Amino acid sequence: MAVVGGSIAGCSAALAASRTGADEVVVYERALGRLQDRGVGLALHNDRYAELEAAGYLDAGMPWVQLARRPWVVRRGAERAGHEIGVLPFPFRSYNWGSLWRELRSRIPETVTYRTGAAVAQVLPQEDGAVVRLADGGEERFDLVIGADGYRSVVRAAMYPDAFARYGGYLAWRGTLPAEQLPGPAEAFLPQDATTVAFPGGHMIVYRIPGPGGVGTNVNWVFYATPPASTRPWFDDPTTVPPRATTQILTDYLHRVVEEHFPPFWQEVVHLTPAEETFVQPMYDMAAPHFACGRLVLLGDAASIARPHTGSGAIKAVQDAAVLERSLRSADSWAAALHSYDAERAPVGRAVLELGRSLGRAQVQQTPEWTVMDQRAMDSWWQEAGGGSGFGGHTLRR
Ligand SMILES: Cc1cc2nc3c(=O)[nH]c(=O)nc-3n(C[C@H](O)[C@H](O)[C@H](O)COP(=O)(O)OP(=O)(O)OC[C@H]3O[C@@H](n4cnc5c(N)ncnc54)[C@H](O)[C@@H]3O)c2cc1C
Repeated sequence: MAVVGGSIAGCSAALAASRTGADEVVVYERALGRLQDRGVGLALHNDRYAELEAAGYLDAGMPWVQLARRPWVVRRGAERAGHEIGVLPFPFRSYNWGSLWRELRSRIPETVTYRTGAAVAQVLPQEDGAVVRLADGGEERFDLVIGADGYRSVVRAAMYPDAFARYGGYLAWRGTLPAEQLPGPAEAFLPQDATTVAFPGGHMIVYRIPGPGGVGTNVNWVFYATPPASTRPWFDDPTTVPPRATTQILTDYLHRVVEEHFPPFWQEVVHLTPAEETFVQPMYDMAAPHFACGRLVLLGDAASIARPHTGSGAIKAVQDAAVLERSLRSADSWAAALHSYDAERAPVGRAVLELGRSLGRAQVQQTPEWTVMDQRAMDSWWQEAGGGSGFGGHTLRR
């Protein structure tokens, strides 16, 4: 079997494929060497983590920080850390993306060939398999090709040329800083909190994650807002990379919004974050019509993209792999296995896509009047936005 892409979904898929007893598993990862750890965080729901631990994909050896509460705050007068309008539960474990990837990578058995600097240019479906054509011109044939190659997937392009990612209309600015650089007082930001600063037209969620190599703790923030209209053309086409000039426009915009709407403590958190530790991620939406077709199969972001508000991008990727393993083990033909995988995972991909859109509308594109909210109003707003079901990912069937 071949796995195209060697990130979270690719490493999980390689593990899945090797556990089915495949004679040969080759991972093609276009990046050279280790994948670059951008140092930022991701969060896994406690219950979804427990299911994947039981399935043998994750374990407690991967460094994490336990989170519990999500206080929502707004700017009010001179209140240093803002005024709390409500608290939602946040039973998540937070991870450093890079350390999670390294742990998954280290779990791939030696029998798997993990090729770096191997960009796949095209995948050619055949009657009983598929050919992987590399950018350097080489070709190899496999019984099954697993597309774990992210939102611009070449495997998906071979299955559904019209299914490409569409810009959702706004961005996430991400940043990290060492926890020891946090301003005071300590009560402004408790260790188990995923504090959310709400403002007209967006919000910023802030939580702690393990530091590089699991040593110490970093603070990770994700700020969501619609950028100035002049930048839109750069994000409408997911195949283009925004030019450097947009970086300054977007940085200035972030700082303007923060100064206008954030309580002083949270302004300082953003201002203390070094420029090289921030980056921008456009929101994209996409779900492939099916996650399997012939001998091609899709996992993770290649199959469907979950906006980060759903708290389920990495969970969905690892779950996809766990279900693919179960389907391949229990069916007596390729066709039956892939049909069963698609039937179980494609509806989850679509549901998560819709939840991401709905949470994006409620939290960014059509924000409520935050300042008049109290706990009751927040609870019903969250339910209406869809947060009561599927937030943090869907249950993994046994
Ligand atoms: C370097 C990196 C850092 C990230 N950091 C964060 C983070 O900090 N927080 C967070 O929430 N999410 C992060 N993500 C995204 C997160 O990992 C995904 O949303 C989720 O885990 C699903 O991942 P995926 O493996 O499906 O897709 P991706 O993580 O996008 O991985 C796709 C992989 O396929 C490879 N690839 C793509 N095309 C080809 C090709 N033609 N040939 C060979 N290889 C190819 C890419 O190089 C990449 O490694 C990051 C992704 C990457 C690649």
